[in-house]
Amino acid sequence: NLSLKLDKAFQNLKGQGRITEINVATTIKEIRKALIDADVNYKVAKEVTDEIKEKALGEDVLTAISPGQLLIKITNDELTALMGGKSEDIVIEGNPSIILIAGLQGSGKTTFSGKLASYLKKQGRSVLLTACDIYRPAAIDQLKVLGEQVGVDVYAEPENKDAVKIASAAIEYAKKNNHRVVIVDTAGRLAVDEEMMNEIARLKDALKPAETLFVVDSMTGQDAVNTAKAFNDRLNFNGVVLTKLDGDTRGGAALSIRRVVDKPIKFVSTGEKMEAIDRFYPDRMASRILGMGDVVTLVEKAQQAFDEEEAKRLSKKIRKNQFDFNDFLSQLEQVKKMGNMKDLLGMIPGMGKAMKEIDIDDNSFKPIEAIIRSMTNQERENPDMINASRKNRIAVGSGTSVPQVNQLLKQFGEMRKMMKTMNKMGGGKRALSALN
Ligand code: GDP
Ligand code: MG
Repeated sequence: NLSLKLDKAFQNLKGQGRITEINVATTIKEIRKALIDADVNYKVAKEVTDEIKEKALGEDVLTAISPGQLLIKITNDELTALMGGKSEDIVIEGNPSIILIAGLQGSGKTTFSGKLASYLKKQGRSVLLTACDIYRPAAIDQLKVLGEQVGVDVYAEPENKDAVKIASAAIEYAKKNNHRVVIVDTAGRLAVDEEMMNEIARLKDALKPAETLFVVDSMTGQDAVNTAKAFNDRLNFNGVVLTKLDGDTRGGAALSIRRVVDKPIKFVSTGEKMEAIDRFYPDRMASRILGMGDVVTLVEKAQQAFDEEEAKRLSKKIRKNQFDFNDFLSQLEQVKKMGNMKDLLGMIPGMGKAMKEIDIDDNSFKPIEAIIRSMTNQERENPDMINASRKNRIAVGSGTSVPQVNQLLKQFGEMRKMMKTMNKMGGGKRALSALN
């Protein structure tokens, strides 16, 4: 869980600073891009990031690695709040309790009806599915197949062309047969049209459902907002169902829709199997939306922006296998200013994640710094010359021990080895591309 990981990172670290207009600008831009990449509606993405910026400006960075990372944490919290903060349950009310399912054709209404029936049945409820898609005979069969699959009764009148009459009869049938929940699957059109809206509005007026759920395909991205708005203007629905949120669908529609219609998202549908239904959790979705923009990259970019010159210089030294203890020390200085060691090393271009594998934690700063400071310049540039007597001198001078000096030398050696290997790999690639 991303936000947990971030929280932990923040607790472990101490940094100092304040979010200012300058250090925020790049990151805000990146966050906006990440949101749009995650299919958040463009206008919504702009509004939301403007609000986040407003919130973040001037905020003290007491525990954060860097203003950039604090900003991402703020963003994560803000997105969670904007999507309702907490998960909202479906309303079951009345006898029978009626759930009307609305949405465009192909959005996943019929599939979701089956899933919801199965979900409610597992809660011990007696459910009836009702086929009110009067235009496509195949839709009735589809619902019957799903009903059979999940072991739920399906009410249908294939000859009847009046959706309200079918639904009313279904409710009578439910009462007689002790079904406590009636799910009404309806007809959709490929685009918003008057006839469809009239029919679904008539159903809602006649049935007075406890829940009217608007089903929307999350892969429709930017369009989802307009559809949601049209349905809500007409139906004033209670909740939203996001379908096809499987695979790498980005989920930005959740934020846009919530923002535009201000109705809770209640379920997500994540596949074609009848079990692929989940309640909607705003915090998970916030992480998903941000994750799609690759928060880590975002943070690295933000940090790079702070110190691009230094990064360039280091990258050059690494390429030439010249990274020495002086560079290491200057990194430590940065760490003290900005935060996390691993993150900082990770920001060196070309080193990235591999560097983070190295076991250096933040409490090891002080002795490390003391040890390096006790080295002569020659020793820093050429650690191989540090023999037993030099080690002894360094240990005494730094108030550490020879094993501690050894450990640092070993870690540094490993780090250099890794840099060398990566250089070779990079060099190989370059050689290849030169051949092509
Ligand atoms: P309806 O026209 O609104 O009733 O939509 P359907 O329930 O018939 O679904 C349309 C298509 O989308 C079908 O092929 C479904 O199998 C598929 N589908 C529905 N929900 C999901 C989902 O959550 N994930 C995926 N991958 N496909 C889905
Ligand atoms: Mg259908």
